[in-house]
Amino acid sequence: MSSQHGTGLTDIKEKNRALALQLIATEQSVSRVDLARKMHLTKTTLGNIVSELIEKNIICEYNGQEKSTELTLGRRPILLDLSPASPLIAGMLVKRNLLTVILADLRGTIAMQADYEYHTMDGELLITKLLAMYEQLAARQSRQIVAIGISSMGPIDTVRKMILSPSDFWGIHDVPIGSVISEKTGLPTFLIHDCTAGALAEKLYGSKTKPYNNMLYLHIMNGIGVGYILHGSVYEGDSGQNVELAHTSIQLNGPKCTCGNTGCLALYANTEKMNEKIHSLRGIYPLSGGLPAKPHYSWEEMIGAASSGDFFALSALDDFCTYLVCALRNTLNLLAIHHVVVGYNAPCATTILEDVLRSKLNTQAPNTFTQPIVIEKSTFGGDAPLIGSIAVVANKIFSGQLNIF
Ligand SMILES: [Zn+2]
Repeated sequence: MSSQHGTGLTDIKEKNRALALQLIATEQSVSRVDLARKMHLTKTTLGNIVSELIEKNIICEYNGQEKSTELTLGRRPILLDLSPASPLIAGMLVKRNLLTVILADLRGTIAMQADYEYHTMDGELLITKLLAMYEQLAARQSRQIVAIGISSMGPIDTVRKMILSPSDFWGIHDVPIGSVISEKTGLPTFLIHDCTAGALAEKLYGSKTKPYNNMLYLHIMNGIGVGYILHGSVYEGDSGQNVELAHTSIQLNGPKCTCGNTGCLALYANTEKMNEKIHSLRGIYPLSGGLPAKPHYSWEEMIGAASSGDFFALSALDDFCTYLVCALRNTLNLLAIHHVVVGYNAPCATTILEDVLRSKLNTQAPNTFTQPIVIEKSTFGGDAPLIGSIAVVANKIFSGQLNIF
């Protein structure tokens, strides 16, 4: 039998180095003693790894007292952190009308960002624009950029690094985005589905105090998307294609969907349906509600109004969640997942969406749910897929699949 993974001393050293870097980048206030204990290494072995990372200017030591807000007596702890000159990762996010390019460190902290809003696009121009934005940022940055992560709506093929045929995407299809950008920049590229990227961002950089092995990341924007963390790893299907929730059927005899299925969740839970509900209620109760009268409300406006107690918006959100919970319950039941993280843009720190979802899921739970479903807001809100473009590369570095040393 052969193994794809080496087990020689060099391999072990590289894996330990990558793991040490992950702990320094993703944990708060790590000392040499903490690292040695967490990694089950002797002080000498750990010391060699730390010295090498310091020598390469990837990490640095600092006086823990300087960043501490607490007054402590005794010796000041020497802690480890990413060096201010540590390598950067480039992240690219492809949305239907917005391109974003960022440079961020291994912690996912954004150093530079460029956005480009558009109202028409083709495959060639898409790559040209992303490259121009990247070059513009890279030219103003002296730190080394080690790789590029690309987070895109699906369907995509992560093996061939192609955007396939997203719906309503200016007719764009079969874009070899990863290979072309890699060829032009000379950097390794990794393509990831935007909702999977959101899940990975949350796993790697978010909710540190609540470790979990299985998690469903729910992304709500114009549509509903999902990403999964299963057994501690991101799940991408066979080639990174969509893992769907929006196009699972919640009504056998429902209307035909553009995807070919019938009665899809996407047909019932969307911002258009929420708008319809608000306008229909306004017709019945013209003097009620705090929302100003206008023909169309954005998701952010409706969430903001719902969190302020607006009856029309609350009612529309309640309908949205009723349909969403129907599909969500099936998925959570199927995979025995009890942890849901929701990412979306909101005008305020509201938890109205999480509150409604939690209530509906747990008060109408089948007896196959053996523990309450935990619903949390994403650490990154609607930006989780963008941070995920960094996380996909960082995850390769931390797991030893991409060597930057
Ligand atoms: Zn569908």
